[in-house]
Parts: sequence; C-alpha cells; structure tokens
Amino acid sequence: MPEGHTIHRLAARHAELFAGAEVRATSPQGRFADGAALLSGTVLDGTEAYGKHLLHHHANGLTLHVHLGLYGKFADGSGEPPPPVGQVRLRLTGDGSRTRSGPAASDGGHWLDLRGPNACELLTPPEVAALRDRLGPDPLRADADPARAYARISRSATPLAALLLDQSVVAGTGLIFVTEALFRAGLSPLLPGRELTPARWRELWADLVHLMAQAVEAGRIDTVRDAHLPEATGRAPRVDRHGGEVYVYRRPGQPCHVCGDEVRRGELAGRNLYWCPTCQPGRP
Ligand SMILES: [Zn+2]
Repeated sequence: MPEGHTIHRLAARHAELFAGAEVRATSPQGRFADGAALLSGTVLDGTEAYGKHLLHHHANGLTLHVHLGLYGKFADGSGEPPPPVGQVRLRLTGDGSRTRSGPAASDGGHWLDLRGPNACELLTPPEVAALRDRLGPDPLRADADPARAYARISRSATPLAALLLDQSVVAGTGLIFVTEALFRAGLSPLLPGRELTPARWRELWADLVHLMAQAVEAGRIDTVRDAHLPEATGRAPRVDRHGGEVYVYRRPGQPCHVCGDEVRRGELAGRNLYWCPTCQPGRP
C-alpha cells in the first residue's frame, strides 16, 4: 500500500494539472457514474493529502475522497486521453491549471485516470471534518500536532509498531516508515507505547517528519544514513522494486548494516515486522 509521501506527491501533481480550472469527470467503468456527474463541470479549488487519504476540494462544496488501498493507482498525461482500458473508476480531464505554478492553460489539457481504489466517493464538508477527526497527526502536514499522538501512545500497552501503524494515532505512516524509524531510533517494535518517554517520542516524530519529507522530495523511501550506504561501506546496493536503501524492511536473514547481526522478521496483528535484535534491544 502506498505510504503518505505518495499521496502528498499525488495531491501536488493533481493541483498542478487541474487546480483553479473546470474539470470534466466521467466513470468509464460506471461504478462512480453518479459522483462523476456531480463533479463534472465544476472548478477544482485545490487538493489536500491527509495521511493516506487524498482530497480534491471543488468549488461547489463537494470533496472527492480517494483512498488507494492495496490496488488503487492513478495515471495521468497530456493531450487527448487514451481510450479507457480496464476498470477506470474515474477519469478527469481539464484544459489545464489556472494556478501560477501549473502548466499553461493552452498546452492541450490533461487527463487523470483512477483504477482500483479502496474508496472513491464524494464527501460533504461535515463528512470531510469527520474524516480529519478520525485521523492522527500526519508528519507531512504543517498543522500536525505530535502531542495528540503521544497522548494515545503514552497511555497504551500496545506495541509501538502497532500504534504507529494505526492511522488514528499517526496518519500516513506505513510499514516501511515505521520499521525504519524504529530501527533508526534503536527502539524495539514491541516496546509498549507507555514505556516511550516524551523525549524519545519527540526524536521519533522529528525523524518521521525528516524521512517522510525526504521521500516526498525523492519519490522513494531512503532511510540509510550516509555512513552505512554502499558507497561508504563497499557492500552491494539494495535490489528491490521499492528502490531505496533501507536498514531492516524486507531484509530478514540479511546482516544488519550497522552491527552485522541477522535482521529478524516477526508478525504483529497480521503485518510483518522487521528489526535488528542487537540495535533494537529489549522486546522481543
Ligand atoms: Zn544491528
């Protein structure tokens, strides 16, 4: 599932393509035909990412809410859209953004296709407020309040990794950011939330902000410090479809980049966990 940085990149991209201009909306697959009809011909005021949720705010007061889930994907392009292939839930076309940073309005227009999302629906302003209320602070948002997350963490006996993956505690963090940030902090993924001190939480939050902002910039997740990169240590670079260099995520049985111990894999609430028993001592 895409993590928060991907959704923030999509929000920026969609604003660049369409913000400030009228969009046409259709549902080639038919499953969002009614919603598309309500959006079509309205102006896209702006876009917003909140955790793994993408919002398109329209001038008619309606908000398109998309959650990609495991299989959802966007594609976009310029000029005439291609004939819809497969299950295109939503297609947006427009003549171009009217914002200063966007492409020129006269460049032939753009299209955007959405396939296979977990959610694609229209929300009213109270429903948007309810969505925001059920999400924890998003490290990529300027309005994020990490104290709100700590209030939950510090009262809970639940393992830290599970708390950080719970979108109502922190929004936008998935398995890669969580396992990697815990490694970088030297914290066991199974440490009960209430054993995390305020100082350690402040460091962990700052590192999540740092790692996630970097991922928005780069379009991939890199978590390895310079001293442990292949260039510095002579080890082989990582080969993985995710691309970036990581410490423990999906590296079970391989040597830790820092201490050489074997990276472990465990399970927590149906999710895989990865950690180094030496660098992240304590439980498990
Ligand atoms: Zn280690």
